[in-house]
Amino acid sequence: MRHDLKAIIDDIVADMRAETERGTVASYIPGLASADPNRFGLAVVTAEGEVILGGDAETGFSIQSISKVFTLTLALGKVGNALWDRVGREPSGSAFNSIVQLERENGIPRNPFINAGAIVISDVNLAGHRTGDAIGELINFLRYLTDDGSIVVDPAIAQSEAEHGYRNAALANYMRAFGNLQNPVEPVLASYFNQCAIEMTCHQLARAGRFLMLDGRHPGGGQVVSPARARRINALMLTCGHYDASGDFAFSVGMPGKSGVGGGILAIAPGKASVAVWSPGLNANGNSHLGTRALERLTTETGWSVFSADHN
Ligand code: GLN
Repeated sequence: MRHDLKAIIDDIVADMRAETERGTVASYIPGLASADPNRFGLAVVTAEGEVILGGDAETGFSIQSISKVFTLTLALGKVGNALWDRVGREPSGSAFNSIVQLERENGIPRNPFINAGAIVISDVNLAGHRTGDAIGELINFLRYLTDDGSIVVDPAIAQSEAEHGYRNAALANYMRAFGNLQNPVEPVLASYFNQCAIEMTCHQLARAGRFLMLDGRHPGGGQVVSPARARRINALMLTCGHYDASGDFAFSVGMPGKSGVGGGILAIAPGKASVAVWSPGLNANGNSHLGTRALERLTTETGWSVFSADHN
């Protein structure tokens, strides 16, 4: 196992930059379709606080579904285990925006990381708020986790998510028909579209994930969540964080991870590191092609797979 982390990361960045097969950039909204597939960034923050950045680690991108990790954390803080009456905890084996299971399972989404599950979570976080307040709460949470006050929503992306959001609107209306949304569909969707449109860098994302590698602790002091809750969020990321490719991600990378169609992935090596990678080209399952490859290299060379004896 190699221990020269900086050299490992420099090697991975150089190799990923040279790759010609880069996947396909998401094209459902113009703001994502214009992303440059040649971009590649990697950021690692270790449990000791060491920060190693490679490539475009300081370039902002649309975090998209990675936001679902943070909205889940907030929702669990509000309603605790009652959340599991409205959202399941099983891998879906279906695409992120699939509607098929919802009818059979009475409007209860399989897990919090598919779109339907994340829309229920938006509904939970909206209780007693207007959309702007709910998004403000999420942004403040991210700023607290990262110690970085510059995180914002990209309004142009939020707007085009709304303009092209027919499928998400279908999911939301369907769940409302089953009584699994308590607020009107419109503000719930507005919250969901805004959370997808948050812009962050790999460096910021890796910092935001620190509490998940530290048993729920904020490195600056205090608990963000209990150790048990941090473990459970990691478990959901491992089993559900890559949609119907979650098994394959566990097989090849071996870390809890959450992807977004902007090409980012947040991955956690508990007790070791919080890692963020970004490359806009996606594979057939809508997960970053080179991001996944890079994380596979990283766990192979560091022993950070949660299934490795070297892990602890
Ligand atoms: N905004 C996207 C959607 O809701 C997010 C999906 C994703 O990142 N996988 O369709």
